[in-house]
Amino acid sequence: MKLQEADAKSLLVAQGLPVPAWTVAHTAGEARDAAAAFLEAGADKVVIKAQVLVGGRGKAGGVKLAGSPAEAEQVAGGILGMDIKGMTVRKVLVGPAADIVKEFYLAAVLDRAERGILLMGSAEGGVEIETVAEENPAAIIRLHAHPLLGLQDFGARELAFAMGLGAHLKAAVAMAKGLVTTMKAYDADLVEVNPLAIVRETGADGAIVERLVCLDAKITLDDSALERHPGLEALRDPDEEAPEDKEAREAGLTFIKLDGTIGCMVNGAGLAMTTMDLVKRAGGEPANFLDIGGGARADKVAHAMRLILADPKVNAILVNIFGGITRGDEVARGLIEARAQQTREVPMIVRIVGTNAAEAATLLEEANFQTAASLDEAAAKAVQASRAADAAGAASANVTA
Ligand code: GDP
Ligand code: MN
Repeated sequence: MKLQEADAKSLLVAQGLPVPAWTVAHTAGEARDAAAAFLEAGADKVVIKAQVLVGGRGKAGGVKLAGSPAEAEQVAGGILGMDIKGMTVRKVLVGPAADIVKEFYLAAVLDRAERGILLMGSAEGGVEIETVAEENPAAIIRLHAHPLLGLQDFGARELAFAMGLGAHLKAAVAMAKGLVTTMKAYDADLVEVNPLAIVRETGADGAIVERLVCLDAKITLDDSALERHPGLEALRDPDEEAPEDKEAREAGLTFIKLDGTIGCMVNGAGLAMTTMDLVKRAGGEPANFLDIGGGARADKVAHAMRLILADPKVNAILVNIFGGITRGDEVARGLIEARAQQTREVPMIVRIVGTNAAEAATLLEEANFQTAASLDEAAAKAVQASRAADAAGAASANVTA
């Protein structure tokens, strides 16, 4: 689950990291009021930032400065409703604009191969790290946190010096350690601050001071660990979730959309992978990964079928069920129910083995389903059906043309 910048910043603040103040505004009017408050409190300008779950908002025109409440209203009005990489901007972050001296990059990421947390830092901040990695890989400093001791001071200091943050050593060490703490506290896969910035501020006595702050924040949480953090579920942004992902999550199905034409409905993640492999070997392309889980009842099967059919590219469906806890006849009933509600005709090849397979076969036969005795046969038939549908589609397109 990806968090919006404002929510990610809240988590950083909760872990004691320095983040400039902000308000989230949903309308241009709200942005004007927020800007007025920050300007009155002494800010020279305010920054207005699109809150969408994609990077590169700055380049896309989703990050702008404003010098007055009226200008903030106008700027926010322009950003709200904007389309950034396919996402519609529905809210903006408003905060006092930072006077940036230099931008850095700092992130903690889960390194699966090393089974630990990897810190990545660079003096080339503000730009996309992928670009730095490609053009100047030596500019990225990498450091693993100790699996038990976490990030230790000497490591954090080394990282800070290598990043050119020697003048802000204490703050940089606290920052690096803070990212690791944040990562652990919320079971995050990624905690990225880009830019981490040295900013110039006027202190209470009028003196100019430089400070290290998080100007942007990106946090991705491990979905599988969300159960351990019930409060974080509320940070899920329903607007940003693809409708099919939302539907699958609510129905308790594991669904990942792919680019092919053959919809797959399978119980068990391993069997789903195998099914996709066999579809590929038979010359087809799977349209999705779908694990209906163990013990799925008829209504869940019908739900899964609706999800598969919602993808217009799907022109054949392969159902592969290995009955264990899941009963074959329940799945068959679900398929029959799903087909009754089906809005478009798509050939379906069904293979059900295991618990109550015989009952399932009788039900499917009565309902005139195409069945297959083996998985290889099912995959071959599904690919054949998909190709036939492709050919028929091409032929009818020719007729209309
Ligand atoms: P992203 O493009 O989606 O990563 O959004 P960022 O929050 O990283 O902002 C992009 C860029 O806008 C930053 O790298 C900064 O150069 C600039 N920026 C962001 N906030 C401020 C600010 O408060 N003041 C100034 N002057 N520039 C800012
Ligand atoms: Mn950024």
